[in-house]
Amino acid sequence: MEKTLVLIKPDGVKKGLGKKIVKYYQNAGLKMIKRKEIDPTPQLLKQHYFAHVAKPFYPDLEKFMLSSHIVVMIFEGSDAVAIARKVTGATDPAKAEKGTIRRDLGDLSLPDDDRIMMNLVHASATKEEAEREIKLWFG
Ligand code: GDP
Repeated sequence: MEKTLVLIKPDGVKKGLGKKIVKYYQNAGLKMIKRKEIDPTPQLLKQHYFAHVAKPFYPDLEKFMLSSHIVVMIFEGSDAVAIARKVTGATDPAKAEKGTIRRDLGDLSLPDDDRIMMNLVHASATKEEAEREIKLWFG
């Protein structure tokens, strides 16, 4: 069985969307096998987002990710990585397909840059990324 990592970002937590978000993954056939709430450190976030640390938007992204606790989960199922990405939707909620978390539950009224950043969830992009991120967040 494949495993993937999903984070509920601070916007999802503050809006109380946790249960709704989990249902999207479960309805797509995935099983939540681990869940914890965590106040991430800047160091942990830099490791998680290592590919983005040097980008101009990173300081805002880190500040946003530190603005409340986050929920860290592992979902399991056949093809879990691809299924979780599909259910999550495109990075920009306005470009995500209907039926995805980011499109259905995202705030399309925000200015472009905030909307792209505050997109409710993270889901690992590849199997390798999933393995790395599961180790990072769950040890
Ligand atoms: P994802 O795999 O769809 O989450 O997207 P990426 O790996 O490309 O980016 C990681 C996260 O960084 C996104 O989910 C957004 O929260 C944030 N992000 C990406 N691009 C931008 C941007 O241009 N501006 C801002 N402010 N945040 C961004």
